[in-house]
Amino acid sequence: MSFSSLGLAEPLLRAVAEQGYDTPSPIQLQAIPAVLAGRDLMAAAQTGTGKTAGFTLPMLQRLMESKRKVSPNRIRALVLTPTRELAAQVGESVRNYGKHLPMRSHVVFGGVSINPQMMATRRGLDVLVACPGRLMDLYNQGAVRFDEVEILVLDEADRMLDMGFIRDIRKILALMPKQRQNLLFSATFAEEIRELATGLLNNPAVIEVAPRNSTAERIEQLVHPCDKANKIALLSHLVTSNDWQQVLVFTRTKHMANRVAETLDKNGVSAAAIHGNKSQGARTRALAGFKDGNVKVLVATDIAARGLDIDKLPQVVNFELPNVAEDYVHRIGRTGRAGAAGHAISLVAADEGKLIKAIERLTKQNIKCEQVAGFEASRETLDNIARGIGAPLRKEPRDPSEERRAPRPQGQRQGAGRSGNAGGARTGGNAGKPKPQGGQRPAEGAAKPAQARRPRRASHNQ
Ligand code: AMP
Repeated sequence: MSFSSLGLAEPLLRAVAEQGYDTPSPIQLQAIPAVLAGRDLMAAAQTGTGKTAGFTLPMLQRLMESKRKVSPNRIRALVLTPTRELAAQVGESVRNYGKHLPMRSHVVFGGVSINPQMMATRRGLDVLVACPGRLMDLYNQGAVRFDEVEILVLDEADRMLDMGFIRDIRKILALMPKQRQNLLFSATFAEEIRELATGLLNNPAVIEVAPRNSTAERIEQLVHPCDKANKIALLSHLVTSNDWQQVLVFTRTKHMANRVAETLDKNGVSAAAIHGNKSQGARTRALAGFKDGNVKVLVATDIAARGLDIDKLPQVVNFELPNVAEDYVHRIGRTGRAGAAGHAISLVAADEGKLIKAIERLTKQNIKCEQVAGFEASRETLDNIARGIGAPLRKEPRDPSEERRAPRPQGQRQGAGRSGNAGGARTGGNAGKPKPQGGQRPAEGAAKPAQARRPRRASHNQ
């Protein structure tokens, strides 16, 4: 099957070819014809499946075909995403795939000045990619109106619900015309997602590719039992002895992410940490360094890693296991993309025996456990792993600062700052690139604590 057989128009086929893609991925095979036919869509697909092109290509074509002129401050297609990283990546896809079409697109999220975003929406946009909190700020300031929306995309809808955006989303939905096309993408079809879908989608095409647990089956996984005090040394040894050039390492907390990255760096292994306390500029730099090979090890928390677009990651290491077994599947899903071999290694200490058993239950597999010579684990660690005991599973966040919603500084309204970045651009431009900015920076999009399912406005966290 080729892209041209899916019914895509020439300017889009040309852009796809320029990206170097010749075969549509399974989600693209199913989503593109359904969206081109004008249907609503409910798709279960994670990052790495090619879902972004799966909705962006037919969305651009539908916009091109409907040929409506957009009024000032109006938008024709709205893509909502939970995090600014994902928003920036979707925005980049829109620009890449739409480069031969006369479309205006822009990306908006919190944590950067609102003024250029207000300028960008002034003339109206064909496509706006937005995080919900900042979008509501723009709406409240009169910079955007939703009454000309033809297509709505909710990307990583499950994550948006987890992050407490449901109220903003419902408000935005209520402001849109009833006649429109709705596309919903989510890693799972959990109960809350089905509920949202029922009210939103009209006789949708339902697509499920690579259900979560099958991710675990195509990735080679290994546990290295290890005493806590030796973990960084073992990680450093693994990187050097295996000559890993690009490895994503997960920690539970920002503090540990920093510690691991700093220690590796001191040991001569180039490393950077990426998490919610880092400025947007620092995160963009770390990611760029990782992509271009200057940084071998990227250490991330679960939240920071979501939405990172990194092609064909060969190696993932769980420096610490996540407290929630589902997060393990998300983490290792970052390796082994597009048919390439993936490898995931977990360093498991005495207090993580229970966690590894929960992961094995969820993924319905036994993960091979191997000692590393010179870093052998103590009897207690081995016993705990074998018996599945250790720290009790906790539901609450491990590092409260990771999940806390940073209060907006008194008297410092977002957007009061000055920035010369008037970002409105045609799809070929650089609209909406994350813009490094000094000063107070809100935390990134963060999962909500269990007790705060309906938090106050979440715009500070994008
Ligand atoms: P996504 O799941 O949308 O985040 O896409 C994952 C990665 O796959 C991105 O880096 C895309 O550029 C890439 N990609 C998307 N579609 C294709 C395709 N048909 N062939 C090869 N790579 C693709």
